[in-house]
Amino acid sequence: MSEAETKTMTNEVVMKMLADKSKLWSVELKKIFEICKADSNLIIAHGAVYNGKVPSTWFSKNIILIGDAAHPYGPGGQGISMALKDSEALCDMIVSGDMSEENKKAFQNIRAEETKKLGEGAEARNKPEKQTTTKMGIFFKGVIMKFYHLFSGGVLKSF
Ligand SMILES: Cc1cc2nc3c(=O)[nH]c(=O)nc-3n(C[C@H](O)[C@H](O)[C@H](O)COP(=O)(O)OP(=O)(O)OC[C@H]3O[C@@H](n4cnc5c(N)ncnc54)[C@H](O)[C@@H]3O)c2cc1C
Repeated sequence: MSEAETKTMTNEVVMKMLADKSKLWSVELKKIFEICKADSNLIIAHGAVYNGKVPSTWFSKNIILIGDAAHPYGPGGQGISMALKDSEALCDMIVSGDMSEENKKAFQNIRAEETKKLGEGAEARNKPEKQTTTKMGIFFKGVIMKFYHLFSGGVLKSF
């Protein structure tokens, strides 16, 4: 959904969308949703969470952006790991003692390359038409994830 579309959405429309989706939720989640339905303000705070726009420069003389401030991520991506990797790279730069403009540019270029690639990948995966929406589909997806988790020892390989 585009940023412009999210701005025209009302709480009622979002509530209706959630109600449709909730048909496939677990019993526990449905119960929570029922409680929240009594007062839509309990759960409704909607807006664009990822608009794909990033500032062209992440740093100035005294400020360096990392994480979502530099490259906003929505749900289902790797925003948390990217924010952590940014902070690691920033710590390395601080420890190196070289805070020159060239080094800050190198920091931005390296981090932007990975975050852009993974951000675009997440956007593509999260498209509505790519979502599993049937009960059977969700069940099989869950089984596959469980097996993957068991055989990988819980370690996800980076790509
Ligand atoms: C609904 C949703 C689901 C998501 N699901 C996933 C997921 O499953 N996996 C994943 O990896 N990523 C997910 N993400 C993305 C992930 O949450 C972010 O990419 C990640 O949290 C970015 O970390 P950050 O430290 O840059 O920013 P944040 O985690 O947003 O931290 C910024 C902090 O700064 C604080 N702050 C803001 N303004 C001020 C101010 N003026 N003064 C002081 N403090 C301030 C905020 O309160 C906040 O605590 C999701 C995002 C959303 C919105």
